[in-house]
Amino acid sequence: MDILQGWLTTSTRAPCEHYDARPSPNDISLLVIHNISLPPNQFGSDHVETFFAGKLDPTEHPFFESIYQVRVSSHLYIRRTGEVVQFVSFEDRAWHAGVSSFQGRTRCNDFSIGIELEGADNIHYTEEQYIALKQVTCQIMHAYPNISLGRIVGHADIAPGRKTDPGVAFDWTRFRQQVCLQQ
Ligand SMILES: [Zn+2]
Repeated sequence: MDILQGWLTTSTRAPCEHYDARPSPNDISLLVIHNISLPPNQFGSDHVETFFAGKLDPTEHPFFESIYQVRVSSHLYIRRTGEVVQFVSFEDRAWHAGVSSFQGRTRCNDFSIGIELEGADNIHYTEEQYIALKQVTCQIMHAYPNISLGRIVGHADIAPGRKTDPGVAFDWTRFRQQVCLQQ
């Protein structure tokens, strides 16, 4: 069993209170891929974990002053090293999509799983991240079969004009081929 009660058995767990119950607990039918780095374009710190825990220190970096009170999260965070960190059970609603719409249905947080890649729109993702993302995506699709390949999207796809992640650097063709081979 790779996923127990919505938790990947192999991931690192990080504390996070930025979540609530899904309105329809059995409706998990979309996977959303994002990127994040704090400060932007800088990798390797624990600032994302601290941010999702609501404990980002606004004095540590000027950028943090504008975001430290924002309450957001994702289910998973994949570091540049390929380490997978889980903040929220897939069975609960993480707060990653914001104002969003997929095929005419709004409030994508209600029915989606969010994965953040440590990265930026214009910086290539690492081999380790593609490998880890493929693995967790296959595990998620197995546990939640309503997530088909056509229901894996980027944040930019569900919030166009407002969001651009995972950006031009993300290789969708490669990712989709790897996931298909695994199935
Ligand atoms: Zn995003």
